[in-house]
Amino acid sequence: MQKFDPIPEYVEIAPAARVVTAEHGWKAKCLQRLVRLELPVPKSVALPADTVRAIAAGHPVDSAGILAAFGPEPLVSVRASPAEPEWGGPATILNVGLNANRHRLLTETHGREAADALCVRFIQKYAIHVARLDPDMFEDIEPGKGALGEVLKLYEAETDEPFPQDPARQLSDVLRSVARAWEGTSARLLRAAKGAPADAGLGLVVQEMTQGLGQGVSGSGVIQFVDSVTGTRRVTGRYLGQSQGRDALTAQEAMYLTRDPRGPSLEELAPDLFAELLRHGAACRIGLREEMQIEFTVEDGRLSVLDAVKVQRSARAGLKIAVALAEDGVIDKKDAVLRVEPRALSELLHHQVDPRAPRDVIARGMAASPGAATGKLVFTAEEAQAHAARGEDCILVRRETAPEDIRGMHSAVGVLTERGGMTSHAAVIARGLGLPCVVGASDLRLDAREKKITASDGRVFRAGDVVTIDGSKGQALAGAAVMLPPALDEAFRMLLSWADEFRDIGVRANADTPADAATARKFDAQGIGLCRTEHMFFDEDRLIVMREMIFADSPGDRAAALARLLPMQRADFVQLFEIMHGLPVCIRLFDPPLHEFLPSSREGMRELAEALDRPLSEVTRRVEALREVNPMLGMRGVRLGVVLPEIYDMQAQAIFEATLESARRGAPVVPEVMIPLVSARREVELVKTRIDAVAAMVRTRAKADFDFKLGVMVETPRAALRAGEIAQHAAFLSFGTNDLTQMTYGLSRDDAGRFMNTYVQQGVFPEDPFHILDVDGVGELLLMGAGRGRETRSDLTLSICGEHGGNPESIAFCRRAGFDYVSCSPYRVPMARLAAAHLALNDHVDS
Ligand code: PEP
Ligand code: MG
Repeated sequence: MQKFDPIPEYVEIAPAARVVTAEHGWKAKCLQRLVRLELPVPKSVALPADTVRAIAAGHPVDSAGILAAFGPEPLVSVRASPAEPEWGGPATILNVGLNANRHRLLTETHGREAADALCVRFIQKYAIHVARLDPDMFEDIEPGKGALGEVLKLYEAETDEPFPQDPARQLSDVLRSVARAWEGTSARLLRAAKGAPADAGLGLVVQEMTQGLGQGVSGSGVIQFVDSVTGTRRVTGRYLGQSQGRDALTAQEAMYLTRDPRGPSLEELAPDLFAELLRHGAACRIGLREEMQIEFTVEDGRLSVLDAVKVQRSARAGLKIAVALAEDGVIDKKDAVLRVEPRALSELLHHQVDPRAPRDVIARGMAASPGAATGKLVFTAEEAQAHAARGEDCILVRRETAPEDIRGMHSAVGVLTERGGMTSHAAVIARGLGLPCVVGASDLRLDAREKKITASDGRVFRAGDVVTIDGSKGQALAGAAVMLPPALDEAFRMLLSWADEFRDIGVRANADTPADAATARKFDAQGIGLCRTEHMFFDEDRLIVMREMIFADSPGDRAAALARLLPMQRADFVQLFEIMHGLPVCIRLFDPPLHEFLPSSREGMRELAEALDRPLSEVTRRVEALREVNPMLGMRGVRLGVVLPEIYDMQAQAIFEATLESARRGAPVVPEVMIPLVSARREVELVKTRIDAVAAMVRTRAKADFDFKLGVMVETPRAALRAGEIAQHAAFLSFGTNDLTQMTYGLSRDDAGRFMNTYVQQGVFPEDPFHILDVDGVGELLLMGAGRGRETRSDLTLSICGEHGGNPESIAFCRRAGFDYVSCSPYRVPMARLAAAHLALNDHVDS
């Protein structure tokens, strides 16, 4: 193994010096790169983290040795240099070394006023940060002639010693105070929040001061070459004459950099200098392979580059920058893909509340579906539809939503529910629709009858009041918030197409409607992994036929109602197949308990009685009879398929006839038929026998052939445990982790929102298992099911279609377990594609 000498106490930053990011920090390394690029960087010395740690612990500092690099009258700044720029660090201290002698020299070169102002500023900073004096004591000092004398007097009075004149003593004290500030509790907490490890060290850079003051063009500024919010290339920044540090960013009188109708600019004042800055910017971009913000000073027309930091950026800017760098050949595609955080993509897909704008929060809940929308409050699905019909945006507020609210959700621009968790009805549907949604907002009081909500601070909002839903943050805001639009541009598409080149697990979408399918295609999903067919029955004209079917007194009546549903279903599937254009489509047979199609209110029952032309008492009685104590564990899924097989027969016929129709239209498809909520092999056998019979009947009638696949949705723990025998009859297994999580924990997915926060806060669960896959428990069932299934059938296709399918951590788990694909809400497809690419690329790097 190669042996290195121990890292010295400090090192001058020169092209060949040994400067190590892990020790000297990000800034020191960056400065070295700037030096190598031959940018005019003032002389700099780097102190590694070990030295800084020793200084904090009270070890003497060789400040005279450090200062020797800076000549007989040293004047330096001290800058923090942690290993990662995000970890922050103590503020820069300028002008260390200022003393009476240096003041005299400065007076000669820059004038008395400038010399005094610098000294006053330095002494105050020193007093506050090093001598730890109260900042208030300097409040009354007026800038100007007598200020320096006053500050010195105050300093002496408070510390019982004159202001130190020895630059070495000043530097030692500054280094010690900065080193200790890094060890303080609040600094630790702050950097831990940014992901810094507990033992993260701090490097420091001591840098020669360049003044930014003088007779000729002098000042300081900050320049960047790309817009921080949009990522488009344009020069932004500020320049302030006769200034130091980052004053230009805050001073009113600062200049623009490029020509600007609003005022004078550096480009006009000093075109050569401006051109030099552009050249340095271009050199940084290529040399550092990144968009940098440059901090610079100009002293009598001479430019110095003091620092360069990564341009701060929004998610959309980050993506655009990464793609532009790759397109220009500065980085490769892999790098570009890895530079974009998958979760950040959701910011690009939807409107967002502008992070710079103020927010008036009236309720907090779970961030169930990302994006933001503003509209008038409505409290029923009907009102939502009425608003949509008038072209007015509305926010639907419900205690929780039920299938009968779906049309209202389609009509709303955002949804807020008082109850519910991450996989509650409202959350799942909203994600599918790409609708901003906040669920479980239990700190607001909903009065559905009075049509008002009361915020925890007592403010009341009524129907028609304007609110904003921020589904990315889980907040409801009063009024119309300032928004940023989505950014689904060419750069977005380009990055994802590169991601597809690297990933090794498929990504499909959960799509129930033609609109969902179109969204899935737009985001380049590789097919539909879950089409929840029951959602097709909620349109008004279908719902009534559905209800007739449910109320049928005899098999004949039921067959008649199903015969009316058949062409509607067939048309749905033809449309889906056409949109998906040959990509696989996995259709789940009917799943929910039947009572979900029946009204719950008296008013609804009355309307139903009218529509069915039956007495209200009979309708009420039948609805009552269908009610179950525990419907999610009751007569639903394959249990319905076994007890009322005609429903699945009708669906299978519709799927197969649509398959033939699509083939005729030139969009051949091999449909995948999926049986939900299986817990026993016999269930699959029974359904399979009937479906095979329906297929044979359709083939015979049409005198045409087609292929299809039959598979099983693994949503009960028993199905996972018995996957070996279930796989005998299934070409694929798709894990429905919403129900599987619910049943593994014995935890209602619709009621979990009530206590999930407490559970997570108290560490009972590390995360909401409906949100992040519980790899220990549910994950074990997945592994068992996958393993046992593949033992029976090595070509068994494995996938996940619960909400976890769009979650990067869950995708990692499924990929490790050898799954073929994940399927998630259409709007999560881009994130899943990118996350999958990251996993493949990182594996490659690790191995
Ligand atoms: C599941 O249970 O994981 C699933 C995808 O089905 P649903 O959410 O429709 O119950
Ligand atoms: Mg399910």
